[in-house]
Amino acid sequence: GLPLAQADPEVHAAVGRELGRQRRTLEMIASENFAPLSVMQAQGSVLTNKYAEGYPGRRYYGGCEHVDEVEQLAIDRAKALFGAEFANVQPHSGAQANSAVLNALLKPGETFLGLDLAHGGHLTHGMRLTFSGKYFTPVPYHVRESDHLVDMAEVERLAKEHQPKLIVAGWSAYPRQLDFAEFRRIADEVGAYLMVDMAHFAGLVAAGLHPSPVPHAHVVTSTTHKTLGGPRGGVVLATADLGKKLNSSVFPGQQGGPLEHVIAAKAVAFKLAGEPAFRERQERTLAGAKILAERLLAEENVGVVSGGTDVHLVLVDLRESALDGQQAEDRLHRAGITVNRNAVPFDPRPPMVSSGVRIGTPALAARGFGAEDFAEVADVIALALRPETGESELDALAARVSALAERHPLYPEVVA
Ligand code: PLP
Repeated sequence: GLPLAQADPEVHAAVGRELGRQRRTLEMIASENFAPLSVMQAQGSVLTNKYAEGYPGRRYYGGCEHVDEVEQLAIDRAKALFGAEFANVQPHSGAQANSAVLNALLKPGETFLGLDLAHGGHLTHGMRLTFSGKYFTPVPYHVRESDHLVDMAEVERLAKEHQPKLIVAGWSAYPRQLDFAEFRRIADEVGAYLMVDMAHFAGLVAAGLHPSPVPHAHVVTSTTHKTLGGPRGGVVLATADLGKKLNSSVFPGQQGGPLEHVIAAKAVAFKLAGEPAFRERQERTLAGAKILAERLLAEENVGVVSGGTDVHLVLVDLRESALDGQQAEDRLHRAGITVNRNAVPFDPRPPMVSSGVRIGTPALAARGFGAEDFAEVADVIALALRPETGESELDALAARVSALAERHPLYPEVVA
């Protein structure tokens, strides 16, 4: 067949424009990253052609000997990287991984605890329009107003009151580390499973720069494309005794044929995540987030949720600012920095506008940004978020952003 450029010039051109956008702008959406070329090559391989329902050595299709090798590598590497007894690498996404776990461990209608979406939880931790809120009975817990930290006293009180079957610990917008041991103590007290969703901080855990939930939780879910820096996808880790239940909940419970090309890319990502260069990159990720938090705290009427960060993101608190989250997102976009607006805890503005922006450093760290670059980005962001900054000043900030982007070329080996 013809190469993409000739077979489909429209798609080819749009992909080329997206590569250009990724190169020119500074990607600071906390859940995004740049997959290495090797990961994209595995994902773009002939493995996309293969049906492989089942698991390595137990397939419902012939010709699976090589995809078996690949999937077994992914499983073994995931287990070794995180010190887990069991791994399922088939979930198509983080949401699918969470769905598989809830379906495996809860009966329809049963109760679980999860961090409130408005306080940093994920949609799949109990939001009413998702499977987690429709088919189960979520009870939300919160952060404290005084310090924006998860209120473990509330978690314990709700656990005793509602006797949940499972407790979810994990977040999409929370700048601190959770106390996994305390979550497990509470779970044990009421006979609940503890599931940790480490989608956001899995890369930090892999690098040994964040406590691991694996020794504490019955089940750990994750995406593979956030701090972990792999292909878009999900993974489930667990103690060995839950393996059979979880496997059958993923397939045939909710998925058909696994995406073996994506699983190959996950295997590559798990390998890379065990290497020294990955740890060094995660160190720059954390340092960059701290530099950003410090710089923003020096601004008038700008806060930082919880007063700082221990992870790869900063939640900017604009409750005191004349700018709302939407305006802040738009201004940063104008300057060439991509972020997403995000509600902050106890946000007085409606969710579509919100009083916050979530800003993450993993993608820039993957691009090679170090402390000096992050200080420059932080200064640009701080100035863009001053209400008095006008259009022409935003253009000047955009020029500083372009200079940074040029200093760290993205995918130099890829030709559009
Ligand atoms: N869990 C958490 C904590 C997340 O932040 C996300 C992604 O935003 C997910 C699960 C869902 O992952 P996916 O978008 O791959 O379904």
